Amino acid sequence: MSSAGDLDLFVIGAGSGGVRAARMAARRGARVAIAEVAPLGGTCVNLGCIPKKLYSYASHYLESFEESHGYGWHGGIRPVLDWPMLKKNRAVEIARLNAVYGDLLAGAGVTVLRGRAHVVSENLVQVGSKVYGAKKILIATGGHPVIPKVPGAEFAISSNEIFDLPAFPAHLVVVGAGYIATEFASIFRGLGATVTQLCRGEQLLRGFDEDARHFVAAEMRKKGIDLRTGADVEGVERGADGRLHVALRTGGEIVADTVLCATGRAPNTQGLGLEGVGVRLAPNGAVIVDTHYRSNVESIYAIGDVIDRVHLTPVALAEAMTLVDHLYGEGKRVLDYDLIPTAVFTHPSVGTIGLSEAQARARFGSVRVFRSEFKALKHTLSGSTERTLVKLVVDAATDRVVGLHMVGADAGEAIQGFAVAMTAGATKAQFDATLGVHPTAAEEFVAMREPVARRIVPSTRRHWRLPAEKVQRRARTPLRAARTAPACLAE
Ligand code: FAD
Ligand code: NDP
Repeated sequence: MSSAGDLDLFVIGAGSGGVRAARMAARRGARVAIAEVAPLGGTCVNLGCIPKKLYSYASHYLESFEESHGYGWHGGIRPVLDWPMLKKNRAVEIARLNAVYGDLLAGAGVTVLRGRAHVVSENLVQVGSKVYGAKKILIATGGHPVIPKVPGAEFAISSNEIFDLPAFPAHLVVVGAGYIATEFASIFRGLGATVTQLCRGEQLLRGFDEDARHFVAAEMRKKGIDLRTGADVEGVERGADGRLHVALRTGGEIVADTVLCATGRAPNTQGLGLEGVGVRLAPNGAVIVDTHYRSNVESIYAIGDVIDRVHLTPVALAEAMTLVDHLYGEGKRVLDYDLIPTAVFTHPSVGTIGLSEAQARARFGSVRVFRSEFKALKHTLSGSTERTLVKLVVDAATDRVVGLHMVGADAGEAIQGFAVAMTAGATKAQFDATLGVHPTAAEEFVAMREPVARRIVPSTRRHWRLPAEKVQRRARTPLRAARTAPACLAE
């Protein structure tokens, strides 16, 4: 057994947050060890962002082949997906990244321990038969998918299994309506599957701007996804034909080859020994931490998905940097959870920064909304009916842009730069003074001049006193004549 003074920091979990914290702490001179039970890189690298985005790229090609005809491209045969090859090439790339993570940790002087770790006491962690002492322990163990306990749930898979399905599903049922469900519905539709997505609520992507939710749902339906709202699963059975029969509470059933449950994730704290040393956990198992990511036990900290704040890789990275600054640096860094840019890699994708219109109204009362929807220049020849939505929400009192939303091709790429501007406190006047990049869809963000008149609510509370249904009806109302001309012709 090592003594408590051997290490400055023991990190449990080599995912996005853990690796970043370990490397940065070591760079500042701390003696650091990190334990990992699975391949290095965590959810993002192995079962999340990276393989998902690779499959997302793959899922756009078929559509591109079809759209190329309008541009004069003709070919003989309809392309066919080689699913085993896609899986193999993905696995090779992920293995490369696992090795890169190993090199990064070794290069920073971090000791990598392979195996499941658990906390023995306030300053001791056990991995296998060995116990390590550390001044501080960082829990960065992430989370795992949760599948609802309906009869036949054992026939469903989670996002962990979707990447390596032995056979490509002819018909996929996706249960859920969050990021993962909505992305995989788009990805598998793009790859050629018949897809039914079951959303138990009234619309997918709860928490996103209402306009964006309804807009992307309509676009996904246009791409052929059978998106059903108010659709709750009663149970799943394997039929005599070997296929899965999904029964709905409202009646009726869907017969599919694969059922993906993407119904949320829970923190990985079970069996970690935290309750034994008195660390307070939330009812769902999340570690409860203060603004410096410290638990109620002085030497034990936690970051990333395991604290169940915002489940995004850049957030886990930023929490790691903030914590390391607090422990080994100047302690000046503070993480602002208000302006988090994020993208949902649907077809077309959703990009968003800051507040939805409803959130902005609740916070600021009077807001100005700028909104435009149009057919992107590319689709004037492609034959696609896909449309793009761009929307700005501005605090009327300060002129600051507090919410920015896009549904359209490469929305994530388009909004990253705007995230810098908004983090710097950009006003609508500064957006107006910015030149567009022409011809792009994103130039519309700096070309919108007229606010949506009906949405301005002079009194701070009035909108919120409306019954919820009425507010939702308003949000669905088309707000301005849809444009089909590129931005250069619009003004
Ligand atoms: P993780 O990356 O999950 O790392 C935790 C690590 O701890 C794991 O490697 C685990 O094996 C290890 N571990 C757990 N318990 C122990 C133990 N007892 N001992 C040793 N090791 C242990 N985010 C984005 O920003 N963009 C995206 O496009 C995106 N796509 C996603 C797609 C999917 C399908 C999923 C599931 C997630 C996606 N995310 C995305 C979310 C992102 O992956 C997570 O927010 C991020 O990985 C969280 O990092 P973390 O360090 O908290 O945890
Ligand atoms: P989310 O919390 O985003 O969504 C869960 C979904 O499952 C919701 O639609 C919820 O419905 C639904 N649901 C929950 N329980 C049930 C049930 N019993 N029956 C039917 N539906 C149910 O979780 P995800 O698993 O999609 O993703 C986890 C996190 O990972 C995300 O929040 C995100 O932060 C991160 N992620 C990020 C990505 C990105 O950045 N592009 C991509 C993928 C994941 P309801 O809304 O009604 O509660």
